[in-house]
Amino acid sequence: MTVFKSDKVGERLCYRRVLLKISGEALLGDGDYGVEFDTVRRVAEDVKSVHELGAEVCLVIGGGNIFRGVSGATVGMDRASADYMGMLATVINALAMQSALEGIGLGTRVLSAIPMETVCEPYIRRRAVRHMEKGRIVIFAAGTGNPFFTTDTAAALRAAEMDCDCLLKGTQVDGVYDKEPKSNPDAVRYDRLSYHQVLSRNLQVMDAAAISLARENAIPILVFSIHNYGAFADALKGNGRYTLISDKD
Ligand code: UDP
Repeated sequence: MTVFKSDKVGERLCYRRVLLKISGEALLGDGDYGVEFDTVRRVAEDVKSVHELGAEVCLVIGGGNIFRGVSGATVGMDRASADYMGMLATVINALAMQSALEGIGLGTRVLSAIPMETVCEPYIRRRAVRHMEKGRIVIFAAGTGNPFFTTDTAAALRAAEMDCDCLLKGTQVDGVYDKEPKSNPDAVRYDRLSYHQVLSRNLQVMDAAAISLARENAIPILVFSIHNYGAFADALKGNGRYTLISDKD
Protein backbone atom coordinates (compact mmCIF):
# COMPACT_ATOMS: atom_id res chain seq x y z
CA MET A 1 0.00 0.00 0.00
CA THR A 2 1.44 3.41 -0.96
CA VAL A 3 1.68 5.68 2.05
CA PHE A 4 1.30 9.28 1.08
CA LYS A 5 2.56 11.93 3.44
CA SER A 6 0.39 14.99 3.28
CA ASP A 7 2.58 18.09 3.22
CA LYS A 8 -0.28 20.30 4.43
CA VAL A 9 -0.75 19.19 8.00
CA GLY A 10 1.66 16.28 8.24
CA GLU A 11 -1.00 13.61 8.75
CA ARG A 12 -0.38 10.29 7.11
CA LEU A 13 -2.87 9.24 4.49
CA CYS A 14 -2.84 5.81 2.91
CA TYR A 15 -4.21 7.20 -0.36
CA ARG A 16 -3.48 10.39 -2.28
CA ARG A 17 -6.16 10.73 -4.96
CA VAL A 18 -9.55 9.33 -3.98
CA LEU A 19 -13.03 9.00 -5.39
CA LEU A 20 -16.00 9.00 -3.03
CA LYS A 21 -19.25 7.44 -4.23
CA ILE A 22 -22.39 8.27 -2.30
CA SER A 23 -25.90 7.19 -3.10
CA GLY A 24 -28.66 9.70 -3.58
CA GLU A 25 -30.19 8.06 -0.49
CA ALA A 26 -27.36 9.56 1.59
CA LEU A 27 -28.75 13.05 0.86
CA LEU A 28 -32.28 12.25 2.00
CA GLY A 29 -31.72 13.02 5.67
CA ASP A 30 -34.98 12.35 7.51
CA GLY A 31 -37.03 12.82 4.37
CA ASP A 32 -38.08 10.12 1.93
CA TYR A 33 -37.63 12.08 -1.30
CA GLY A 34 -35.25 14.72 -2.65
CA VAL A 35 -32.42 16.61 -1.03
CA GLU A 36 -32.13 17.70 2.61
CA PHE A 37 -29.57 20.47 2.45
CA ASP A 38 -28.38 20.10 6.08
CA THR A 39 -27.44 16.53 5.27
CA VAL A 40 -25.62 17.59 2.09
CA ARG A 41 -23.73 20.19 4.14
CA ARG A 42 -22.68 17.57 6.68
CA VAL A 43 -21.28 15.31 3.97
CA ALA A 44 -19.54 18.35 2.48
CA GLU A 45 -17.83 18.96 5.84
CA ASP A 46 -16.45 15.43 5.72
CA VAL A 47 -15.14 16.04 2.21
CA LYS A 48 -13.51 19.25 3.41
CA SER A 49 -11.70 17.50 6.24
CA VAL A 50 -10.24 14.98 3.78
CA HIS A 51 -9.25 17.75 1.38
CA GLU A 52 -7.51 19.57 4.25
CA LEU A 53 -5.40 16.48 4.87
CA GLY A 54 -3.97 16.98 1.39
CA ALA A 55 -5.93 14.41 -0.60
CA GLU A 56 -7.22 15.09 -4.10
CA VAL A 57 -10.93 14.32 -3.98
CA CYS A 58 -13.54 13.60 -6.61
CA LEU A 59 -17.14 12.55 -6.10
CA VAL A 60 -19.81 10.52 -7.83
CA ILE A 61 -23.32 10.97 -6.45
CA GLY A 62 -26.25 8.72 -7.29
CA GLY A 63 -29.78 9.84 -8.04
CA GLY A 64 -31.94 7.30 -6.23
CA ASN A 65 -33.35 9.95 -3.86
CA ILE A 66 -35.08 11.50 -6.88
CA PHE A 67 -35.49 8.96 -9.66
CA ARG A 68 -34.34 5.48 -10.64
CA GLY A 69 -34.64 4.12 -14.15
CA VAL A 70 -36.04 0.79 -13.01
CA SER A 71 -38.94 2.56 -11.25
CA GLY A 72 -39.90 4.28 -14.50
CA ALA A 73 -39.62 1.01 -16.40
CA THR A 74 -41.94 -0.79 -13.94
CA VAL A 75 -44.73 1.73 -14.64
CA GLY A 76 -44.39 1.36 -18.40
CA MET A 77 -41.74 3.89 -19.45
CA ASP A 78 -39.12 2.75 -21.88
CA ARG A 79 -36.04 1.91 -19.87
CA ALA A 80 -33.59 4.13 -21.73
CA SER A 81 -35.72 7.28 -21.24
CA ALA A 82 -36.24 6.41 -17.59
CA ASP A 83 -32.48 5.97 -17.16
CA TYR A 84 -31.85 9.39 -18.69
CA MET A 85 -34.22 10.82 -16.09
CA GLY A 86 -32.17 9.04 -13.44
CA MET A 87 -28.99 10.56 -14.84
CA LEU A 88 -30.55 14.03 -14.73
CA ALA A 89 -31.39 13.38 -11.07
CA THR A 90 -27.68 12.90 -10.38
CA VAL A 91 -27.02 16.35 -11.86
CA ILE A 92 -29.48 17.88 -9.37
CA ASN A 93 -27.62 16.17 -6.52
CA ALA A 94 -24.25 17.25 -7.91
CA LEU A 95 -25.37 20.90 -7.97
CA ALA A 96 -26.61 20.65 -4.37
CA MET A 97 -23.25 19.21 -3.31
CA GLN A 98 -21.36 21.85 -5.28
CA SER A 99 -23.29 24.57 -3.49
CA ALA A 100 -22.62 23.02 -0.08
CA LEU A 101 -18.89 22.58 -0.78
CA GLU A 102 -18.50 26.13 -2.09
CA GLY A 103 -20.45 27.42 0.91
CA ILE A 104 -17.67 26.11 3.17
CA GLY A 105 -14.91 27.56 1.05
CA LEU A 106 -13.90 24.77 -1.33
CA GLY A 107 -13.29 25.23 -5.06
CA THR A 108 -15.36 22.81 -7.12
CA ARG A 109 -16.32 21.85 -10.62
CA VAL A 110 -19.27 19.74 -11.76
CA LEU A 111 -18.45 17.73 -14.87
CA SER A 112 -21.40 16.06 -16.54
CA ALA A 113 -21.27 13.01 -18.79
CA ILE A 114 -24.33 14.50 -20.54
CA PRO A 115 -23.24 17.91 -21.81
CA MET A 116 -25.31 20.81 -20.42
CA GLU A 117 -22.99 23.73 -20.85
CA THR A 118 -25.07 26.43 -19.24
CA VAL A 119 -25.16 24.43 -16.00
CA CYS A 120 -21.77 22.74 -15.70
CA GLU A 121 -18.74 21.62 -17.67
CA PRO A 122 -18.85 18.62 -19.98
CA TYR A 123 -16.81 15.64 -18.79
CA ILE A 124 -13.31 15.80 -20.26
CA ARG A 125 -10.85 13.45 -18.57
CA ARG A 126 -7.76 15.63 -18.81
CA ARG A 127 -9.65 18.65 -17.58
CA ALA A 128 -10.91 16.70 -14.58
CA VAL A 129 -7.37 15.67 -13.67
CA ARG A 130 -6.19 19.26 -13.97
CA HIS A 131 -8.97 20.51 -11.70
CA MET A 132 -7.95 18.04 -9.02
CA GLU A 133 -4.28 18.95 -9.35
CA LYS A 134 -5.33 22.54 -8.71
CA GLY A 135 -7.03 21.45 -5.49
CA ARG A 136 -10.61 21.61 -6.71
CA ILE A 137 -13.19 19.03 -5.74
CA VAL A 138 -14.51 17.45 -8.93
CA ILE A 139 -18.09 16.17 -8.92
CA PHE A 140 -18.88 13.77 -11.74
CA ALA A 141 -22.53 14.06 -12.72
CA ALA A 142 -24.85 12.08 -15.03
CA GLY A 143 -23.22 8.72 -14.28
CA THR A 144 -21.55 7.18 -17.30
CA GLY A 145 -23.85 9.09 -19.65
CA ASN A 146 -25.33 5.79 -20.83
CA PRO A 147 -28.60 4.10 -19.92
CA PHE A 148 -28.55 0.59 -18.42
CA PHE A 149 -25.63 1.51 -16.16
CA THR A 150 -25.48 2.64 -12.54
CA THR A 151 -23.59 5.33 -10.70
CA ASP A 152 -21.61 2.56 -8.95
CA THR A 153 -20.22 1.60 -12.34
CA ALA A 154 -19.67 5.28 -13.12
CA ALA A 155 -17.68 5.58 -9.88
CA ALA A 156 -15.42 2.64 -10.76
CA LEU A 157 -15.01 3.97 -14.30
CA ARG A 158 -14.07 7.49 -13.20
CA ALA A 159 -11.78 6.14 -10.47
CA ALA A 160 -9.91 4.17 -13.15
CA GLU A 161 -9.81 7.11 -15.57
CA MET A 162 -8.58 9.50 -12.87
CA ASP A 163 -5.97 6.98 -11.73
CA CYS A 164 -7.38 7.14 -8.22
CA ASP A 165 -5.58 5.28 -5.45
CA CYS A 166 -8.88 4.07 -4.02
CA LEU A 167 -12.64 4.18 -4.39
CA LEU A 168 -14.68 4.83 -1.25
CA LYS A 169 -18.30 3.92 -0.98
CA GLY A 170 -20.16 5.79 1.73
CA THR A 171 -23.16 3.64 2.67
CA GLN A 172 -25.88 3.49 5.31
CA VAL A 173 -23.82 1.05 7.46
CA ASP A 174 -20.19 0.75 8.53
CA GLY A 175 -19.01 -1.83 6.01
CA VAL A 176 -20.04 -4.94 4.09
CA TYR A 177 -22.24 -7.53 5.83
CA ASP A 178 -23.26 -11.03 4.74
CA LYS A 179 -26.90 -9.92 4.82
CA GLU A 180 -28.84 -6.74 5.38
CA PRO A 181 -27.75 -5.76 8.93
CA LYS A 182 -30.66 -3.50 9.87
CA SER A 183 -33.27 -6.26 9.56
CA ASN A 184 -30.90 -9.15 10.47
CA PRO A 185 -29.29 -8.74 13.91
CA ASP A 186 -27.14 -11.86 13.30
CA ALA A 187 -25.55 -10.36 10.14
CA VAL A 188 -21.76 -10.79 10.03
CA ARG A 189 -19.57 -7.82 9.12
CA TYR A 190 -16.37 -8.28 7.10
CA ASP A 191 -13.17 -6.32 7.67
CA ARG A 192 -11.57 -7.55 4.45
CA LEU A 193 -12.85 -9.14 1.28
CA SER A 194 -11.41 -9.97 -2.13
CA TYR A 195 -13.24 -8.82 -5.25
CA HIS A 196 -13.95 -12.48 -6.00
CA GLN A 197 -15.57 -13.01 -2.59
CA VAL A 198 -17.85 -10.03 -3.15
CA LEU A 199 -18.92 -11.39 -6.54
CA SER A 200 -19.20 -15.08 -5.65
CA ARG A 201 -21.12 -14.42 -2.41
CA ASN A 202 -23.31 -11.91 -4.23
CA LEU A 203 -22.73 -9.33 -1.49
CA GLN A 204 -24.89 -6.29 -2.14
CA VAL A 205 -22.31 -3.54 -1.87
CA MET A 206 -21.81 -2.41 -5.47
CA ASP A 207 -23.05 -3.94 -8.69
CA ALA A 208 -20.96 -6.63 -10.36
CA ALA A 209 -19.83 -4.38 -13.22
CA ALA A 210 -18.37 -1.89 -10.74
CA ILE A 211 -16.59 -4.59 -8.72
CA SER A 212 -15.15 -6.15 -11.90
CA LEU A 213 -13.91 -2.80 -13.18
CA ALA A 214 -12.23 -2.07 -9.84
CA ARG A 215 -10.64 -5.52 -9.83
CA GLU A 216 -9.31 -5.20 -13.40
CA ASN A 217 -7.71 -1.90 -12.47
CA ALA A 218 -6.55 -3.00 -8.99
CA ILE A 219 -8.43 -0.17 -7.29
CA PRO A 220 -9.12 -0.95 -3.62
CA ILE A 221 -12.68 -0.24 -2.43
CA LEU A 222 -13.30 1.04 1.11
CA VAL A 223 -16.87 0.77 2.37
CA PHE A 224 -17.79 2.92 5.37
CA SER A 225 -20.80 4.65 6.90
CA ILE A 226 -21.49 8.06 5.40
CA HIS A 227 -23.50 8.85 8.56
CA ASN A 228 -20.49 8.60 10.92
CA TYR A 229 -18.94 12.03 11.06
CA GLY A 230 -15.20 11.83 10.27
CA ALA A 231 -15.40 8.23 8.98
CA PHE A 232 -14.27 9.30 5.49
CA ALA A 233 -11.02 10.82 6.80
CA ASP A 234 -10.51 7.95 9.26
CA ALA A 235 -10.78 5.35 6.49
CA LEU A 236 -8.15 7.16 4.44
CA LYS A 237 -5.80 7.13 7.44
CA GLY A 238 -6.38 3.40 7.88
CA ASN A 239 -8.38 3.97 11.10
CA GLY A 240 -12.01 3.61 12.04
CA ARG A 241 -14.53 1.08 10.82
CA TYR A 242 -14.69 0.13 7.18
CA THR A 243 -14.47 -2.93 4.95
CA LEU A 244 -11.54 -3.10 2.54
CA ILE A 245 -12.12 -4.89 -0.76
CA SER A 246 -8.85 -5.67 -2.48
CA ASP A 247 -6.72 -8.55 -3.72
CA LYS A 248 -3.58 -7.28 -1.96
CA ASP A 249 -2.46 -8.34 1.53
N1 UDP B 1 -28.12 5.91 -14.51
C1 UDP B 1 -27.88 5.49 -15.81
N2 UDP B 1 -26.59 5.39 -16.23
C2 UDP B 1 -25.53 5.65 -15.43
C3 UDP B 1 -25.78 6.04 -14.10
C4 UDP B 1 -27.10 6.17 -13.66
O1 UDP B 1 -28.79 5.23 -16.56
O2 UDP B 1 -24.37 5.55 -15.88
C5 UDP B 1 -29.52 6.12 -14.09
C6 UDP B 1 -30.26 4.87 -13.67
O3 UDP B 1 -31.60 4.98 -14.09
C7 UDP B 1 -30.19 4.91 -12.18
C8 UDP B 1 -30.28 6.39 -11.88
O4 UDP B 1 -29.54 6.99 -12.96
O5 UDP B 1 -31.28 4.22 -11.57
C9 UDP B 1 -29.72 6.84 -10.57
O6 UDP B 1 -28.47 6.24 -10.35
P1 UDP B 1 -28.25 5.11 -9.22
O7 UDP B 1 -29.45 4.19 -9.16
O8 UDP B 1 -26.94 4.48 -9.46
O9 UDP B 1 -28.24 6.03 -7.92
P2 UDP B 1 -28.03 5.63 -6.38
O10 UDP B 1 -28.70 4.30 -6.15
O11 UDP B 1 -26.56 5.51 -6.16
O12 UDP B 1 -28.64 6.77 -5.63
